[in-house]
Amino acid sequence: MRAAIFREVNAPMEIGELLIDAPVDREILVRTVASGVCHSDLHILEGTVMGGRGPLVLGHEGAGVVEAVGPLVTHVKPGDHVVTCLSGFCGQCEQCLSGHPNVCTANPTARPRGASPRLRAGDETVRGFLNLGTFAEQMLVHENSVVRIDPEIPLEVACLVGCGVLTGVGAALRTARVEPGQTVAVFGCGGVGLSIVQGAAIARAGRIIAVDRLADKLDLARSLGATDVVDASAGDAVAAVRELTGGRGVDHAFEAVGVPALVRQAAEVLAVRGTCTIVGVPPDGSVFEIPYGAIRPECTIQTCRMGGNRFRFDIPRYLSFYQQGLLRLDEIVTRTMPLDGVNEAFELLHRGEGARTVLTF
Ligand SMILES: [Zn+2]
Ligand SMILES: [Zn+2]
Repeated sequence: MRAAIFREVNAPMEIGELLIDAPVDREILVRTVASGVCHSDLHILEGTVMGGRGPLVLGHEGAGVVEAVGPLVTHVKPGDHVVTCLSGFCGQCEQCLSGHPNVCTANPTARPRGASPRLRAGDETVRGFLNLGTFAEQMLVHENSVVRIDPEIPLEVACLVGCGVLTGVGAALRTARVEPGQTVAVFGCGGVGLSIVQGAAIARAGRIIAVDRLADKLDLARSLGATDVVDASAGDAVAAVRELTGGRGVDHAFEAVGVPALVRQAAEVLAVRGTCTIVGVPPDGSVFEIPYGAIRPECTIQTCRMGGNRFRFDIPRYLSFYQQGLLRLDEIVTRTMPLDGVNEAFELLHRGEGARTVLTF
């Protein structure tokens, strides 16, 4: 089967043939139909996290059709439609049992050490990023890395709910628990930021202020539920958000890019007792500097891991929002490309163009 293979930092991925093993135990073999192109993959390509060791099949926002299952699999059967999620869970650790499988402390989705590799290029072992690897025609993954979905939903949009949409909508609904009537600011309007805007709209936030440097993203944010927009390239975004709220500030600010300077801005626009939720993933070694005097009393600054998801529950629920017209996904897909376009897709992502590119197989 064909796959995009990452070998070294800042070099294009090569499209090549890989051998894929058969499923054992709780593994499933999935024919990939679509995969979103997400920032976390870009971080690997640029070497800002994990040090960029190849060979690796990147991609983690996938959707496809189950082709075969191992003997212990119970969640799916061949023919089922699934979405992948990097929040693989064990179901038995302290975090899983207390309702937070997104921060599972076990690593249940890899093959045991010493087992034959899932993927090979000739004699060489190739790993799947996050035990997924969706930039490939097939995926061999643990059943706790996928959720079965309604086959009526197009896989080209369903894949987005595996990472970016799950993270953004979950940041608003689960992590921050935005309440009806509250005021929200979202810094960064890529796939995740636009999903936070939509999550805040689903929660019936009173005002949703979208902040970005690109006019087309601000237009998209407005069409997806933002009530106000701030063009950060035009001047002081903090002052602009404060002015829009009559000096009060916002109940919830979200940082959706992973840039420490934006975390500071998000903290500085809070109202008294406001909450800043850091949703983006900053480069390893990042430090957040927030002057104490610039934040209002009794504010909360919190991190968010993948939208606080219980993905087996959340992904079908968010897809039902899509079916009800509450969550718009088609609008977030700004480009679709074949697997061979993967390097071009990352160029677009690097330049910050468009919301989401989806590779289709
Ligand atoms: Zn992602
Ligand atoms: Zn666990």
